[in-house]
Amino acid sequence: MENLFPIKIENYIDGKWVPSTNLKTYQRENPANPEEIVIIAPNSTEQDTNNAVEAAQAAFTEWSRTPAPKRADVLYRFAEQLHAERELIAQIITKEQGKPLNEALGEINKTISEIRFTAGEATRLDGQTLPSERQGIEIKTKRVPKGVIAAISPWNFPIVTPLRKIAPALAAGNTVVFKPASITAGTGAKIVELFERAGLPKGVLNLVIGSGREVGTPLSVHPLVKGVTFTGSTGVGSTIYRRAAEKLIPVQLEMGGKNAGVIYDYNDIKGAVDQITSAAFAATGQRCTSISRIVVQRSAVDDVVSYLKDKCAAYVIGDGMDPETTLGPVVSKDHLETIDEYVQIGVKEGARLVQGGKRIESQTNGYFFEPTVFTDVSPDMRIAKEEIFGPVLTITPVDSFEEAIQIANDVEYGLASSCFTNSMEYAEQFVNQVQTGMIHINNGTISESHVPFGGLKNSAVGAYSIGVTAKDFFTDLKVVYSASK
Ligand code: NAP
Ligand code: MG
Repeated sequence: MENLFPIKIENYIDGKWVPSTNLKTYQRENPANPEEIVIIAPNSTEQDTNNAVEAAQAAFTEWSRTPAPKRADVLYRFAEQLHAERELIAQIITKEQGKPLNEALGEINKTISEIRFTAGEATRLDGQTLPSERQGIEIKTKRVPKGVIAAISPWNFPIVTPLRKIAPALAAGNTVVFKPASITAGTGAKIVELFERAGLPKGVLNLVIGSGREVGTPLSVHPLVKGVTFTGSTGVGSTIYRRAAEKLIPVQLEMGGKNAGVIYDYNDIKGAVDQITSAAFAATGQRCTSISRIVVQRSAVDDVVSYLKDKCAAYVIGDGMDPETTLGPVVSKDHLETIDEYVQIGVKEGARLVQGGKRIESQTNGYFFEPTVFTDVSPDMRIAKEEIFGPVLTITPVDSFEEAIQIANDVEYGLASSCFTNSMEYAEQFVNQVQTGMIHINNGTISESHVPFGGLKNSAVGAYSIGVTAKDFFTDLKVVYSASK
């Protein structure tokens, strides 16, 4: 196969591919083989960001007046392009993000289903008609696009997360400035290239590549930006929220998680562990919906540990381009070090390390870390409270179902949770009392392509993405009173 890498990418502003105005670039390495440079990207500045916002503002009037079903056609064409290019894009994702090729393909397929749903949403931008207190008056509500939307995305799902922002924004008639995570900008550029091929008019979607500080900050405070949709860490999300509050603009923030899988009165411990293992270690644990804590009745702990050890031992850790690989590297050297530090913290706190816990030496010096399991984890330990965002799973034994729910809720986050139980009563209690936006009974934390996605507490702010809820962020409401004469 011809080697495509490194790929040199540029910004896309007002329908043109351009370098950053300072002509500076940075390089992204392959996390499985850091000596290999895979992407060379512009290191953009506030000037580039302002140019992009102005282009998006200039394109807004015409795009917002384009009939919604025509806007949907562009999204359907984009989905076709993405399907046609999926093998190549999966390679780019694997090379710059690290996940195994088949996980990258899975992410692309999910993106295609979400885009198809979202294109349909363009034709369902409905309002209400309401009776009036007066004769001869008709009242209706109407959804209208907001204007320029800033879309800021993380590196763990480099294709599905940006499109959860860009697609509903475009469907509703907004224009967009997109800032991908610096370390997965190659996939970001590909997204924009496919929209160009799908016939999106110039200026409607603009791409600015650069750091959070040099591009993310000026983008989120720009006076022409009418809404910020952000996925990433709770720290950055909270900064964006404060800035938006000063400008009085809405935000859609999707942030961290510390998701619990509860097992209580369940007759298929092995089945539960199978589902939790994939929820814990897919994307090497770098998913906001990863299960990172198991909360289990004391009598089942030994079975859980023994099944988990088997599952962990079966992972083939390596370069995601190798079809045998089932667990890729973590995303960066810094992140590898953070995960390593958390494991040391867990040991110091007195948790019992029963599986993994070490970096893996490889010939390429890739950022590999073993799937890791701690048991005897008490709920006040840092490893039980803080988002590690790596292949680390904790086990906390409990003596009652009430205690299980209390521990599941005893974290700052509230994104997703799972409960494995044969008791209808416990299942109902879980649904009523657990403080998470998404709840899974007797299954792992996989979300579907047409269903609202979001969280409670410090995991999210604003309308849920995907599903029927996305348009609540991407449109404003007008109320119209019409007299017949
Ligand atoms: P991050 O550090 O918060 O970065 C997210 C994005 O924000 C990146 O594009 C980043 O740019 C940019 N950014 C950084 N500082 C900024 C600032 N001051 N102003 C504006 N933008 C700024 O998060 P990450 O490390 O990429 O991703 C991991 C986090 O994302 C985890 O906490 C995870 O739970 C969360 N996440 C949540 C969901 C969800 O749906 N709830 C989904 C996926 C991930 P640079 O790349 O240039 O730094
Ligand atoms: Mg970061």
